Amino acid sequence: MSPVALSTHQCQDAHVPAKTGKAEPVSRSSPVDGVVLTTYPEDSNPIPLKWGAASPEARGPIVASRLRDGLAKHNSIGAHSGSYCVYHALAVGSKQLDPNHVADYTNSQPAFSMPEQKTWYNPRDIVAMDPFGHLTPYLFDEAGRTENVEIRPTIAITKATMQLFEMKDAVINGRLQVDGKVVLNSNGDLSVSKVAVEPTWYLPGVAERFGISEEELRKALFEDTNGMYPELITRPDIKVFLPPIGGLTVYIFGDPSYVSDPSKKLALRVHDECNGSDVFGSDICTCRPYLIFGIEEAVKQAQNGGSGVVVYFRKEGRALGEVTKYLVYNARKRGGDTADEYFHRTECIAGVRDMRFQQLMPDVLKWLGISKIDRMLSMSNMKHDAIVEQGIPIIERIPIPDELVPPDSRVEIDAKINSGYFTTGKIMNQDELKTVQGRAWSDVQ
Ligand SMILES: [Zn+2]
Repeated sequence: MSPVALSTHQCQDAHVPAKTGKAEPVSRSSPVDGVVLTTYPEDSNPIPLKWGAASPEARGPIVASRLRDGLAKHNSIGAHSGSYCVYHALAVGSKQLDPNHVADYTNSQPAFSMPEQKTWYNPRDIVAMDPFGHLTPYLFDEAGRTENVEIRPTIAITKATMQLFEMKDAVINGRLQVDGKVVLNSNGDLSVSKVAVEPTWYLPGVAERFGISEEELRKALFEDTNGMYPELITRPDIKVFLPPIGGLTVYIFGDPSYVSDPSKKLALRVHDECNGSDVFGSDICTCRPYLIFGIEEAVKQAQNGGSGVVVYFRKEGRALGEVTKYLVYNARKRGGDTADEYFHRTECIAGVRDMRFQQLMPDVLKWLGISKIDRMLSMSNMKHDAIVEQGIPIIERIPIPDELVPPDSRVEIDAKINSGYFTTGKIMNQDELKTVQGRAWSDVQ
């Protein structure tokens, strides 16, 4: 571990847990008194955690919470619930949530069973989620009791009915047939199985995917978040990190057990969040139209004896966030908004054109047991390359049909095609991209 300054590594009354295990009670009378800034290996006794072990019991539970004996025994850095961990802290801080609340998981078990996969036991196949995250309360309930620690799920599995006006339109126009199983009725209601996943990173595996050392990864995570997680530095013995970022949701159409069956055809869309388009219908990009097209094609694959999967990642604005995204929109609209300048405007503000880092994305596909993708409903070369590099072949790539591209989003899609996105149509050169212009603001200043 290279030296990193922890200049105020302990405040006046800070303490670390005794080596023997029992965490000392933390005073809540002052924001400083009794606060433990970090822990050290020599004062801790973490519950064993062996990523990729041959059984869930040998792997061990993910323990992040400081509750009860967790301060001395936790084996994961960070907090549960992704970015929502801050709301949990607010609920505790504002005294609306008892910090000692014990979850009652009665009847919360998965609504259908996901077939176990070999990948769940391979430390290299899955590095960004806990493959047993949906079984936690059942696999490790007793361990939690005997060790006196809190063990929480990071995956939940449920069923739902999905209503989208475009699916009603698809039924009315004959693109989708009502079968009573996937398309439930003439309203186009869809039966869907859903999996919500919170990120859980095995740091050595994540570092390997990015071609950097674990130390480099820990240092960047610590320093670039202004020291949010000192244990990234003080606890090299702890290898798992629950990052404060958004997770993902898997939407499965058809029999979930078909997803991992190589004899069944699979249609897949991997979609990164774009709230402005996905939910609020902005026409500056192709996000919602491509998402809806992906759902419709996934449904058709399920109705044709296969299955369809849409994975929705919370990576708003290419993981740059919506504020950066809107700043880029402004810069584009005030600068003429031509396709040749599309990526440059993002790079000027963000320094890079994209921070989605698809290297970790294929993990969920491996967790689902996907061994090949018959129809990939994405044009992204980054998603394609990441999936293929992880050993999952893509048989056919399906671009968004031209008629679904909103008028103001030609700038984006033509720039992306020029940069390497898959197309069966024309690839414009830089001069041609200058002629692709977005809608001007009527009130540009
Ligand atoms: Zn978008």
